[in-house]
Amino acid sequence: MRGWLKALCLSLGLCGLTGEIAAAQGHFSGLARADARGSSLHVDEGVAYLNLSLSQPVPWRIRYLADPPRLVADFREVDFRALDFVKLLQGPGVTGFGSLRGGAVADGWSRLVLALDRPRLARLAELKTGQGDGTRALLRLELAEADEASFRLEAARRDPPGWALPVAADLAKPRAPRGSGPLVIMLDPGHGGLDPGAEYGGQTEAGLMLIFARELKEALLRNGFSDVRLTRERDVFVPLETRIALAHGAGADVFISLHADAVTEGVARGATIYTMAAEASDAASAALAERHDRDALMSGVDLTGQDDLIAGILMDMARVETAPRAAALSEDLVQAMSEAGIALHRIPRRSAAFSVLKAPDIPSVLIELGYLSSAGDLQRLNDPKWRANMAGTIVTGLQRWSVRDAAQGVLLRQ
Ligand SMILES: [Zn+2]
Repeated sequence: MRGWLKALCLSLGLCGLTGEIAAAQGHFSGLARADARGSSLHVDEGVAYLNLSLSQPVPWRIRYLADPPRLVADFREVDFRALDFVKLLQGPGVTGFGSLRGGAVADGWSRLVLALDRPRLARLAELKTGQGDGTRALLRLELAEADEASFRLEAARRDPPGWALPVAADLAKPRAPRGSGPLVIMLDPGHGGLDPGAEYGGQTEAGLMLIFARELKEALLRNGFSDVRLTRERDVFVPLETRIALAHGAGADVFISLHADAVTEGVARGATIYTMAAEASDAASAALAERHDRDALMSGVDLTGQDDLIAGILMDMARVETAPRAAALSEDLVQAMSEAGIALHRIPRRSAAFSVLKAPDIPSVLIELGYLSSAGDLQRLNDPKWRANMAGTIVTGLQRWSVRDAAQGVLLRQ
């Protein structure tokens, strides 16, 4: 089932951003610096040696990702800007390694990703401190060739709590009954940091979406019916599932992911609203249940100790209620946009298995504001007047939806 989900993700192009990431180094304030001198990659008699010289020791760990095989090293926290990744990949004996990239991840975390030439596992992984030559810490990894099965077993290990998600104490804030308080809206500016998203004419999707998210937040706050949060406030990489966990942590009533992707084939222009594809829900539940702390998945329902099957069923039950609410939101948004004369995609309401829409209990939509690959859309996204109009339509759509949704909630409780 996992393989199937992965294939689906690849064909949709938006999921799995934690894996293959683009090379941009986001805004960054590292505690430790990686030094070019003393850092190296070389291969000798089949073993790959990765040395990373650091200005001071920091907490770290390594793990693996399959399809394709990658080594991931996480640090708290390291500024990699002094490293020349291309040059490192040209080290003695190094052939067939796909890429080496590094940068800021969520607040306070940094990540290095090495696309391996073949399945490899560390036979040695250590951080040595107090080197005599001015290097205050040296991470040494010796990566020996491994068979496919052992590599997959390591790659399938769960993340220890606290690495990929906010701490449990911040999670599972119960939500107020629908319509009883301000609407808590989690805005999710797509991409960021290591992952700039679409890039066109020197502009990144990540940058444009952050600008729009801030403007939309202001527009929403001016209208006084909502409490608004952002999954990221700056140019930083936030893993997709962390974005969902942040929404749960905030007790969000609604989740809105903002994108403006580029398409390489065919012509796409105009706004599109995506909801989670129904046919992907089961696989999404299963994958989530497999990988995460149960308490991070659904607010107010403690799934700790449930087996994966039960957790999956509970999440699907929540989705039965959530899916039509998300569909209604997408309807209200498209309606408001079309009334305001916003250019819409030829099929403005669509569904897809985007990872970021996986929250089982929060109505979630992904808005493609336009496509960076369309000159007209790019121009509109850069026009403050157009953005203000677009933000206004989202405010209107959300306001109408929240009234309708609250009324529906009252009916359900009776
Ligand atoms: Zn995007």
